[in-house]
Formats: sequence, C-alpha cells, structure tokens
Amino acid sequence: MEFTFSKEQELIQKVAQEFAENSIGPVAKQIDAESQIPEDILKGLAELDLMGIPFPEQYGGANGGYDGYVLALEQIAKISSGVGVAIAASSLGLGAISKYGTEEQRQKYLTPVCKGQQLASFAFTEPGTGSDPGQLTSTAVRDGDFFVINGTKRFISNAGYPGPIVVFARETENGKVSAFLLEKLCEGYSCSEPWEKIGYHGAQVLDVYLKDVRIPVQNKLGNTGQGFEILLFGIALGKIGTSTIALGGILAALNEAVQYAKEKTHRGQAIGLKFQAIQLKLADLKIKYETARLLCYRLGCLANNIKDPVQFAAEAALAKAYCGDSAVDAARLAVDIHGSYGVVRDYTVERIYRDAIIGTEIEGVSDVQRVIVASSLLK
Ligand SMILES: Cc1cc2nc3c(=O)[nH]c(=O)nc-3n(C[C@H](O)[C@H](O)[C@H](O)COP(=O)(O)OP(=O)(O)OC[C@H]3O[C@@H](n4cnc5c(N)ncnc54)[C@H](O)[C@@H]3O)c2cc1C
Repeated sequence: MEFTFSKEQELIQKVAQEFAENSIGPVAKQIDAESQIPEDILKGLAELDLMGIPFPEQYGGANGGYDGYVLALEQIAKISSGVGVAIAASSLGLGAISKYGTEEQRQKYLTPVCKGQQLASFAFTEPGTGSDPGQLTSTAVRDGDFFVINGTKRFISNAGYPGPIVVFARETENGKVSAFLLEKLCEGYSCSEPWEKIGYHGAQVLDVYLKDVRIPVQNKLGNTGQGFEILLFGIALGKIGTSTIALGGILAALNEAVQYAKEKTHRGQAIGLKFQAIQLKLADLKIKYETARLLCYRLGCLANNIKDPVQFAAEAALAKAYCGDSAVDAARLAVDIHGSYGVVRDYTVERIYRDAIIGTEIEGVSDVQRVIVASSLLK
C-alpha cells in the first residue's frame, strides 16, 4: 500500500492546479454566465498536455495514467466543473476508442483529440432511454461496404465540436447492438441548440440527429454485437471523470466554507470560532472530501490495469454514488455556512451547489449505481 505521490504525479497535479487557478479562475464566472469555454482555455489545456492525460504518447496523449488524470481533473473541476466535464466527456469517448479501436482507428481518432484540436463524444442516451440502453432505437443498415446510421441521441456532451463520436445503434441485419465511429458535423449529422441546464455551464449538451449518415464498414468499433460491452466499459471509465468532478466540487465547497467561516464575524468573533455548529459542518465537509479523494485516487489507480471489467464497473459505480451524493451534501453544507450569501450569484458556493446536483443524474443516476454495487455483492 502506497499513499505518497510519485514525482510525475506531483508534477501533473501542480501543472493542472496552476493552470486552473491562474488561467481558468479569472474566467470561471464568465464561463458560468455565458456557458461557453473560451477557446484559449481549451488551447492552453492542450499545450500543457491536459486533454489526453491517460492515453499513450504515440497517439498524442501524456501517458500519465488514469491516476494522473484524476489528480489533474480534480484541480480543474475545483475551479470550473464545466471545463472539467468537457474534458471528462471527451476522455469517455477516447477511453472506448483506446480499448476497442484498431491501430488505424486509434491513430486517426485519438491523436487530434489528445492534441486539443478536437473534442470527442460518446452517445448512448436517446429520447426514449437513459438508464436502460437495451431500449435504444437507433439503427445501422448495411449497404455494401457502408453502414447507414439513423437515430436521435439526447443530451450528448461536446456534440457541437468537431471530433469523433462513438454511437450505439442496432444493426438491422442481425438485431445486434454495435458501436460505430462517426465524425461529428459530417453529412447527415446535425444538432439541436444546447440544452439550458442548471449548472455545469460551459460544458454543452445537445441532441444529435443522425439522418442517413453513411460510414465505411471499417468504422465499426469492436465487433458486431459488442455494443453493450463497449458501452458498459466506456461508461465505467467515464465514471472516473464524473466522480472526480464531484471531488473537485467537494474541495471547492470545503475551501469556500473554511474561508467564509474565518472571515464572517458575529459580535467581533469569526463564526468558525464562535459557533460549534459551524465547526461540525466544516468537519463533515473535510470527512467527505478525504473519503471521496481516497475513492477517486484508488479508482484512477485501478483503471490503469483493469483485470476484471465487471468488478471495475462495480468499483466505479461505488465511487460515483459516494462522490456524486457527497458533492450535493457538501455544497449544501457550504451554502448553509454562508447563510443568505450562499444563495446569491456573487458567492461561488451558489454555483458549486448548482453544479453538484447534476452529477448524481448523469452517466447513470445514483440509485442505478447502487443497483450495480448490490449486484456485485449478490452474484
Ligand atoms: C450534463 C449532462 C451530460 C450528459 N452527457 C451525456 C453524454 O455525453 N452521452 C450520453 O449518452 N448521455 C449523456 N447524458 C445523459 C445522461 O447520462 C442520462 O440522462 C442519464 O443516464 C439518466 O437517464 P434518464 O435521464 O433517461 O433517467 P431514467 O433512466 O429515466 O431515470 C429516471 C428515474 O428512474 C430511476 N431508475 C431508472 N432505472 C432504474 C433502475 N434500474 N433501478 C432503480 N431506479 C431506476 C432513476 O433512479 C431515476 O430516478 C448527459 C446528461 C446531462 C444532464
């Protein structure tokens, strides 16, 4: 058991922390208000190799492992969940391509994303299904050396940016669900306006309309009928991102709460020193942060060497359930410590709370995570 960082891990965390605090920090309010990530932020992240941390150098990645990814993403999400979600959603698509793609697919699709020229997407949700992807209705019709893809995908992160998108569709020829690689913005690909959501501003989600999109048969990801396996594996890796974004939110809530408890005074004394009730809340925040931190760092280490994908999926579900729910609780505690100031736009905890309550509803809602954990206990 090892609880210290390597030199590389320290470096990756420091680089991300400095960029997050010095470059994203000054525009974090603007990102929240305008729901748009400035181009120079994405460019700056790419220049520091923060857009493809876990992926091999030969595909433009930083080869920093999922443990390095967690350390960096925590620092970025601490400052802006929106920027964190854009990175995590892109890494979700890349994780599936990295594991199931051919050498040619990896070269073609991982490299421009890792280098920050594109953002990847991963599309399983449809208007008729979210937690139960078995109900998906998108179709892939074989036409000679091509597949023709039709369907609507809902709430797809990064869908408006150029880059690869992993799409799940049922092959009409055999009824099996397979995964396909499309170039976003290709002919037949169109998007809705971004959904207006309560938080994670900057990270945009759009509906994707696929109308007779023709792709060569070589663009199938993995084998025929391997769609659900790719979906479950990809989402399990994706939960490293969603758990870590929640972790960043808990850290932000803790920092804001401690600072406010030291600054705000009642009858000349800081509320953190005067009221034990405030101290109890601060202690709860710290306990939640340290527990979530251990779960996320451990999940990142486990992801570097997955031996049993089903067991890994249960570990990822456990981390996501705890971190997601704790981020909501932590944000609520931090708002409470701020009193009425906690619910006005001028104070950061208001945004932290709005962001936190999304985390439990994506990539599998919290109860579905518990179902996955329970089934791993009962098999
Ligand atoms: C910001 C954001 C980003 C997103 N990004 C993407 C993306 O990039 N790609 C993508 O494909 N999707 C994405 N989504 C969609 C998201 O992952 C799904 O909406 C999510 O999985 C939940 O599905 P649902 O909304 O259909 O909920 P439902 O499945 O309809 O769930 C509704 C309720 O039923 C309960 N429920 C459902 N099934 C069970 C069960 N088996 N046991 C117990 N209770 C159950 C749930 O707990 C919940 O309370 C995104 C959504 C958001 C908000």
